[in-house]
Amino acid sequence: MNITKHKVALIHYTLKDDLGEVLDSSEGHDPLAYIHGIGNLVEGLEEALEGKVIGDKIITSVSPEKGYGLRSEENVHVVPLASFQPDGDEKLEVGMQVRVETNAGVTLAEVTKIDGEHVTLDLNHPLSGETLHFEVEVVDVRDATHEELDHGHAHGPGGHHHH
Ligand code: ZN
Repeated sequence: MNITKHKVALIHYTLKDDLGEVLDSSEGHDPLAYIHGIGNLVEGLEEALEGKVIGDKIITSVSPEKGYGLRSEENVHVVPLASFQPDGDEKLEVGMQVRVETNAGVTLAEVTKIDGEHVTLDLNHPLSGETLHFEVEVVDVRDATHEELDHGHAHGPGGHHHH
């Protein structure tokens, strides 16, 4: 069975940056289960996996445009410190990830500067602007269930777990 739209594929993967540093890997875990063709993975990786079968191993480099996007200064915002109501006693610090509400829903932002009464928030994805180097092995390919397609994610080992 080939990986095509609406198949569930289980993959082992390692993601490295330009310097060869490992950013993420499924090693030591269940393989990652995802539904192909609906944007579960970054576009460039899904393109590289299209048509592949169990046992295939691929090495591919994904440009930022087909990965997590380019960095944009429009995603950097300066907001009043007073608009923050930290949880409990947690003190706002540079480097901290905070949840912020945007027009597109709740997202994570990194605090990059705290200056008097203002806080600078970077909403760019941490991997935006990066070329992503993937090594992937296809472990299994199967049809997605109606429920999985309905939810938009794979279930079972390596997928989402519902409690
Ligand atoms: Zn689900």
